[in-house]
Amino acid sequence: MKKLIFSFAILALVMVACQNNSEEAIPNQEAAVDMSDFYVYTSADDVSAKSSADAKNDKCASMKVLNQQLKDNPGLENRMFAIEKHTREYIAAKGSTQKGKPGGSGTPPPTPYVGTVNIPVYVHVIYSNSAQNISDSQINSQITVLNNDFNDTNYTDVPAEFRAVGANVDINFTLSASNIARHSNSTSSWGTNNSVKSAYPPVAGYLNFWVCNIGGGILGYAQFPGGSASTDGVVVGSEYFGVTSGAYGLGRTATHEVGHWLNLRHIWGDGRCQQDDFVTDTPSSDRANYGCPSYPTVHCQSNDMTMNYMDYTDDACMNMFTLGQNDRIRAIFASGGARESFVQ
Ligand SMILES: [Zn+2]
Repeated sequence: MKKLIFSFAILALVMVACQNNSEEAIPNQEAAVDMSDFYVYTSADDVSAKSSADAKNDKCASMKVLNQQLKDNPGLENRMFAIEKHTREYIAAKGSTQKGKPGGSGTPPPTPYVGTVNIPVYVHVIYSNSAQNISDSQINSQITVLNNDFNDTNYTDVPAEFRAVGANVDINFTLSASNIARHSNSTSSWGTNNSVKSAYPPVAGYLNFWVCNIGGGILGYAQFPGGSASTDGVVVGSEYFGVTSGAYGLGRTATHEVGHWLNLRHIWGDGRCQQDDFVTDTPSSDRANYGCPSYPTVHCQSNDMTMNYMDYTDDACMNMFTLGQNDRIRAIFASGGARESFVQ
């Protein structure tokens, strides 16, 4: 046993030596990334336990759905780990490129990081009453919101401390009239178990939206990159898709859910202060924010970026993605990325 431990120790020493060596001798070596903080399971099933009194309801079910998918599919965690590793390697390589150092063999090329990403959209409208059979103009208003939010170049409307990290994500969403499918169905509440996707499967090559009544106070849920193609896409409640009325009537539910579909976590990391969203330029927080918070709102000893699309604030009070979030999004379109097919 001692001999075995000794052998491992020697092996570890050799590996460390090799790593050190390779960093010095082979400058093009793939960037090493730290994956020690990676997590997939979250406390999303227990939002009330960590949130303030007014935050007892989860409005987005993406993390809860992810928790269930991880339980049902043991391979998903490994796929998400690989996607996260690719993302971090991509961001690390991008950083080294910016500093004038050449990228290595594992470094994705700079394009399509630079330039517009075009995403064709397919919308499934599933209705049990006429109100849920939303109009073409309501659907098109959602596409306009997505294009505005993912092409924002004006950040004068955010607090000065966050202005410099506002990002133009540069994604163009397109929807042709023939890619709206309408289905009458007596189901009045679809829940968050992907059953609506089983009933009306996604169309390959598109960002699929299912617009239906979800129920349970849930506005929407998305599937992260790495999940099954048969359930890939975003589900949004009928009254929250497009420009409608009320606190969630400006189409930001879809913006938030598309953020998840593009591999963004909730800005507070679905956990306490140490649990992160894997984005360096978003402040740490231990909870979702609701309503329209005043600035500054302080948690974890820093000002929350309550106006970020990946928080839970009212539609009118969220208006930014960050450069760090944009890096994560761009990584999945890069060579080897989980949604690379959209730019090929
Ligand atoms: Zn969410």
